[in-house]
Amino acid sequence: MYLVKTPWLLKKLYPSLIWSEKVQDEKTIYLTFDDGPHPIATPFVLNTLQQYNAKATFFCIGKNVDEQPAIYHNIIHQDHAIGNHTYNHLNGYKTKDEEYIDNIIQAATVINSTLFRPPYGRITRFQARLVQEMNYSIIMWDVLSGDFDIHLSKEKCLENVLLNTKDGSIVVFHDSEKAFERLEYALPKMLEHFTQLGYSFKALH
Ligand SMILES: [Zn+2]
Repeated sequence: MYLVKTPWLLKKLYPSLIWSEKVQDEKTIYLTFDDGPHPIATPFVLNTLQQYNAKATFFCIGKNVDEQPAIYHNIIHQDHAIGNHTYNHLNGYKTKDEEYIDNIIQAATVINSTLFRPPYGRITRFQARLVQEMNYSIIMWDVLSGDFDIHLSKEKCLENVLLNTKDGSIVVFHDSEKAFERLEYALPKMLEHFTQLGYSFKALH
C-alpha cells in the first residue's frame, strides 16, 4: 500500500525531512531515480534526460555502485546529482539503528553526497536524527510514480505523475528492473508534457 501524493499530515509529522522544494518565479520539477545504477534502466534514463536538457538526482544503492561503476560515473559526468540510498537497501523499521547507520557509512565509501533517501521511505524518527547529525539532508518526495508496482499499468503510472506534479515537486521513479516497463513509457511522456508547459528539470543540492 502506498500513496501517489504525499498527504500534508505526514509532512507535518516529519517537518525536518524534505518533501518538496520552494521555488520562486520558476517552473521547476525535481526528478529523482532510486535503486540504480542498473545496466539497462540507468542508461535509458540518462539518454532520455539528455534529450530534454533535464537534470535529476539519483539515489544509488552502494552495492549497485560497486557492481556498475562505469554507469555510476556517467551519472556524475552528465552533471546529475547523486544521493545515498544505503548499501543494501535496508528498511529502517526492520533494522537496528547501529546496523542502519553502518550501512549508510558503507554506501558513503562509494557515494560522495550529502543527500540521503531512506529505502521504502521507512526511517524512524531516531534514525532520521542520527542521519541528520551526520550532515545529510533527508530527501523524501511529494509524488510517487508507482513505477515499481507491477500491478500498475504504464498508462496509470503516467497519469500519476501528470496529475500530481506541480511547481517544486520532488518526483520518484526507479531505475530498476522491476520498474522499467512503466518507467520507459512514462518518463519520456512526462518530460515532453512539462517541457511543453515551460517547466525545467533540476538536480537537488
Ligand atoms: Zn529504493
